[in-house]
Amino acid sequence: MRPPVIRKPRDGWAVAPNMPDYEAARASFRWEQARGALSGLPGGRGLNIAHEAVDRHALGPLADKVALRWLGRSGERRDITYRELRALTNRFANVLRGLGVGREDRVFVLLGRTPALYVACLGALKNRSVFAPLFSAFGPEPLAARIGPGDGKVLVTTRALYDRKVAPIRARLPSLRHVLLAGGGAGEGTLDLDALMRQASDQLEIEPTRPEDMALLHFTSGTTGKPKGAIHVHGAVVAHHATGWLALDLHPDDVFWCTADPGWVTGTSYGIVSPLTHGTTSLIDEADFEPERWYSILRDERVSVWYTAPTAVRMMMRAGLDVARRFAPPALRFIASVGEPLNPEAVFWGQDAFGLPIHDNWWQTETGGIMIANFAAMDIRPGSMGRPLPGVEVEVVRRDGDGVTVLGPGEQGELALRPGWPSMFRGYLHDEERYAKCFAGDLYLTGDLARRDADGYLWFVGRGDDVIKSSGHLIGPFEVESALLEHPAVAEAGVIGKPDPIALEVVKAFVSLRPGFAAGEAIERDILGFARKRLGAVVAPKEIAIVSALPRTRSGKIMRRLLKARELGLPEGDTSTLEAGTP
Ligand code: AMP
Repeated sequence: MRPPVIRKPRDGWAVAPNMPDYEAARASFRWEQARGALSGLPGGRGLNIAHEAVDRHALGPLADKVALRWLGRSGERRDITYRELRALTNRFANVLRGLGVGREDRVFVLLGRTPALYVACLGALKNRSVFAPLFSAFGPEPLAARIGPGDGKVLVTTRALYDRKVAPIRARLPSLRHVLLAGGGAGEGTLDLDALMRQASDQLEIEPTRPEDMALLHFTSGTTGKPKGAIHVHGAVVAHHATGWLALDLHPDDVFWCTADPGWVTGTSYGIVSPLTHGTTSLIDEADFEPERWYSILRDERVSVWYTAPTAVRMMMRAGLDVARRFAPPALRFIASVGEPLNPEAVFWGQDAFGLPIHDNWWQTETGGIMIANFAAMDIRPGSMGRPLPGVEVEVVRRDGDGVTVLGPGEQGELALRPGWPSMFRGYLHDEERYAKCFAGDLYLTGDLARRDADGYLWFVGRGDDVIKSSGHLIGPFEVESALLEHPAVAEAGVIGKPDPIALEVVKAFVSLRPGFAAGEAIERDILGFARKRLGAVVAPKEIAIVSALPRTRSGKIMRRLLKARELGLPEGDTSTLEAGTP
């Protein structure tokens, strides 16, 4: 029998946790004090993420410490010290400056996990431009739906990615002035970033930066409509730093590995910013997941703090305990996970495999940083997301008309947060209405369902909407349906997340065909291939079913909930809004 609680020692730690007493920290924590852990720009000229992450260390005793250790896909290695990172990011900022790119201009980056991505992010921030990451596995349509509405002025990418994914949509991106190619191969309509970097100065003074200046633009998906661009500001670095300290227990001598791609918010907040603000050495692995590769990295690179995702943990579990024990990472002392529910079995597997439980934590694109966590020195209740971060107030609520009712322990409702932490998003770009809809009174409504137990631990119940979580990636059904509808044979499309033992959910499409097209394997393959080409492998449906018609409400909306209930053989629930004549 597994115990319901994993007890943590009160003392005798090999490395003393940053927060030894949760209750005491919660009582005394103040965000203004957390700001005091950072230096701010010299001369009181404001707060800039890249200064806190890079220059602060590069100009001090950590200058020659490795900031980033890059592991290439084919076995290459490259260490970049804080001093070198300062020079590289200065050069990139000067490249932007030379092109007339300035404050709050959007710099989109479509790159694999190579040093150029990290330099572009931090260099853009130094120039007070906005870093907007794109996942390199996106197809042309998701790229157009982000760069266009995001007013992308600059795109940093490679020749290969450009030819395959951007050239076909370039005409639809009138705001895009400069395409900078890392790794050479520039031609008409593109510039050679490596050459520009060589010509640029490595000296730079960061211009005054206000904490409220826009810094990061992360696109996220909703149930309806196109992806939304969540705006984050330079002041968010206070939360990136504090959460790294409190929830990931980062110490300066850690070797930290965040396995998330910077195309998603975790890979930026914790794959780039947070560890650097702590002066740690951060690992970057260019390659895709492969259990033995990951075990070797944990062992050979002496990773001490590892931040990963439940899908990866489940894949490692599948590879077997003996593999984990064979590799025995010698320096590992803290493991955390985010992005999807972490089942108790996985928490215990960490103990069996590494002698360390896995610490689940919760947050989302809009919150910019970890909000709820199982902290290093706090007992774990396996299956729970943990307790709110000091400085963060969480409620579980029921929506009542325009307002909400706050629920008590044990009651299930929507997870809501009281804004006031520095990395809270400041809006959805060009979409005030959708932003306003996220609030009721003084609460931000997260869209997730949860309950809280009598001791304040929060338990994830599910999402309150139709958004799909597949391999840790949030996927909007509308974006997928829109692409399917462009196939000449498709009359209607409805998309759901179908439960999957490894990826949590996989995207499944239901389509009806236009007259003149016959159902069958050939057309299914053709539609799946079409979707994959437009959307890219992460977003495209993995399964398809051809149906005669899709269930719709009287107002014409496809009832995804009903499609899902039928797929799972569950009760259909309230079908009173179903349009007569639809199945
Ligand atoms: P994203 O904005 O892409 O980071 O996705 C955020 C969403 O992922 C949340 O709203 C949740 O639905 C889900 N999520 C994140 N962390 C957890 C967790 N620890 N347990 C369950 N779901 C999570």
